[in-house]
Amino acid sequence: MTRRLSIIVPCYNEEAVLAESYRRTRAVIDRLPCEGEIIYINDGSRDGTRNMLNELADEDPRVKVLHFSRNFGHQPAVSAGIHQCTADWAVIMDADLQDPPELIPDILALSEREGANSVYCVRRSREKETLFKRLSARLFYRTMNRMSEVQFPLDTGDFRLIDRKIMDQFKRLPEHGKYIRGLISWIGFKQVPFYYERKARVAGETKYPLSKMLRFASNALLYFSKKPLRLASSLGFLAVIVGLLLALWTLLGKICGFSHAETGWSSIMTAIIFFGGVQLLTIGVLGQYIGVLFDEIKNRPEYIIDECRNCTDS
Ligand code: UDP
Ligand code: MG
Repeated sequence: MTRRLSIIVPCYNEEAVLAESYRRTRAVIDRLPCEGEIIYINDGSRDGTRNMLNELADEDPRVKVLHFSRNFGHQPAVSAGIHQCTADWAVIMDADLQDPPELIPDILALSEREGANSVYCVRRSREKETLFKRLSARLFYRTMNRMSEVQFPLDTGDFRLIDRKIMDQFKRLPEHGKYIRGLISWIGFKQVPFYYERKARVAGETKYPLSKMLRFASNALLYFSKKPLRLASSLGFLAVIVGLLLALWTLLGKICGFSHAETGWSSIMTAIIFFGGVQLLTIGVLGQYIGVLFDEIKNRPEYIIDECRNCTDS
């Protein structure tokens, strides 16, 4: 039986890049050593993306399209692509051609050569991205590695190849807030790097404004690390020590006569504000984890599919 590779492409308001993205991806599929198809996930786009994808699906049976009922986010869109995929391999790729589809044959060849279950693509450089984006990404991947119990490859996004074994394990994961690149590392098996230069977006704007980026980063941290909770306890412990030292100082001052406790308005205020701050901070950290528990316990689906095109399998 011929083997099959699916290219999973989440799209949110991507009308500016879609035609070019499809053209280049199709050209790659034509020269793959196996059968190929594209799974587009329209994550509730409000521009012409929906119609464009439907036209592509009508013309080309190798194009499968899932339309979400609204914008659920990049990670749920990729997750839906993996759930939908029945091929032997999947490549996860952005629609904006920052991750060049032309690399896919080399990535597939590497996985075959190394007998790897996953090939993750590491960004050697990033073209035309703002200094802020580059620095924040650097900081994020390094902090995640320090905080998490699982080790992640640095400077690696979702652009990667995964095989059937990894997809089958992925489908078993019950959590709703999925940090996909982390989960794939967590699943394990043989995973090897592939180095590449990340290009600039060919057209359109980033669909990750600062607010989405922060939510993405805090989700990743909350789902993969309990260290913030441990840090909160350490901070509480430190505050207790400081409080005890202050009490001792006041007592000694009274006994030895160097304290002017009755004029100590500012020191009392400082202590109140300090301890109040520590308490709010630690409660805030607790609250974040409770929020995650709340979301998980509601057990709502990760996404809702409105319509499928050319999806014969499920
Ligand atoms: N995307 C999505 N839903 C969203 C935001 C983004 O499906 O809510 C898609 C988007 O269309 C693109 C990919 O996720 O294919 C990555 O987004 P983008 O390129 O804007 O992020 P950046 O590369 O700037 O971090
Ligand atoms: Mg992009």
